Amino acid sequence: MAIERSPKGPRTTARIVRWSVLAVVLVGITVIGYLHQALAIGKPQGVDALCPFGGLETLASLFVNGTIIRKIAMSSVVLLAAVLGTAVVFRRSFCGQICPLGALQEGFGGLGRKLMRGKRLTIPAPVDRVARFLKYGVLLGFLSITWATSTLVIRAYDPWVAYMHLTSAEVAEYAFGFGVLAASLVGSMLYDRFFCKYACPMGAFLGLISRFSLFKVRRNAETCIDCKLCDHACPVNIEVSSAEVINSAECIDCNECVTACPVKDTLEVSTKGGKRLSPLAVTGAVVAIFTFVVLLGSATGGFSITMPSLAQEAGVPTGENSSDGGVVVDTALIRGSTTWKEITEATGIPAETITDIFGIPAVDQTLALKDASTIYGVSPGEARAWVELWQTDRAAAEAYVPGTLLGEDHEE
Ligand code: SF4
Ligand code: SF4
Repeated sequence: MAIERSPKGPRTTARIVRWSVLAVVLVGITVIGYLHQALAIGKPQGVDALCPFGGLETLASLFVNGTIIRKIAMSSVVLLAAVLGTAVVFRRSFCGQICPLGALQEGFGGLGRKLMRGKRLTIPAPVDRVARFLKYGVLLGFLSITWATSTLVIRAYDPWVAYMHLTSAEVAEYAFGFGVLAASLVGSMLYDRFFCKYACPMGAFLGLISRFSLFKVRRNAETCIDCKLCDHACPVNIEVSSAEVINSAECIDCNECVTACPVKDTLEVSTKGGKRLSPLAVTGAVVAIFTFVVLLGSATGGFSITMPSLAQEAGVPTGENSSDGGVVVDTALIRGSTTWKEITEATGIPAETITDIFGIPAVDQTLALKDASTIYGVSPGEARAWVELWQTDRAAAEAYVPGTLLGEDHEE
């Protein structure tokens, strides 16, 4: 039978578009991480509020108590919905087409290929098979502890949380996460998508869902010339050339195998019923589904890229403050990233009172409490305890001597 070659142009375009989407998301989220650390007011949400795994971590609390666990925001739940939307149709397409940590690993993978002149190492098959289960243990372990205790235990070990704190003043707090990040990136230089294959809990969760996805990679055995270019292209080492349908939970929907195949209509992304989509169309559809769900979340108030102010979080009506006799500000909402200015706006405490008692001039009241504390020695915990006092016993608060109330600190 005559072999009809698949034209190269559309295959190359599909690869470039997928890499471009990954690069744009990576750069965008890196800038957001930087601005979150650098800005005091109008800052973007932190990593916990912008990670779909956070949505999974808070699910138990959301269903049982109707509340979101501390540090997570509704934005994470919306992102989880967006990721699930893409997974129902296109398997682990979040991993292969959107995830910034995946993008970072692919970048280091490319660097590794250059340094090793295209060679890739392989882990012995029996070791690799067992090691792939590790990510399910990570998923089960961290989720069950988080659901039981409502604390984000994964935070200290999470390479992505560490990455988003690269420019933070508390870099040392994430030392273990930086270790995992370094191991993932060096590992990816040698083995492709090292963290995705062995340790990512989000990938493990999506792998379980991907079993039921509508679109999968299918191979036409009749036209296949057994060149094995697809096997060579697959970053997660699936033997595409010997499968009819890729049902593996490891498949990240990157479609590198499809774009590598030189024979027309031999590897395709299709449904069981024969509905086919080109790799380029898959990338477009994944981005469209993801964006649609996020916009829907945004329109219904569930997704916000910027952090709410203290007044907004406390439910103080616009233009009012708690001194007007309205909502009393819950001081648990005062964090290291809260500014003194936000406190004065939400509570009505005059800026001059802050200056008189703590010696913090108005110009520095736009600093986050954690930053102001290094200059003026008032820890976020003390600030929180003093605001509590001001709301309950104003005379005692006005006569307050700094350093005599020491509240517990909880940071961003
Ligand atoms: S099987 Fe194909 S689509 Fe799946 S991960 Fe491998 S190369 Fe990507
Ligand atoms: S790339 Fe894979 S599916 Fe395509 S012809 Fe070669 S072995 Fe067959």
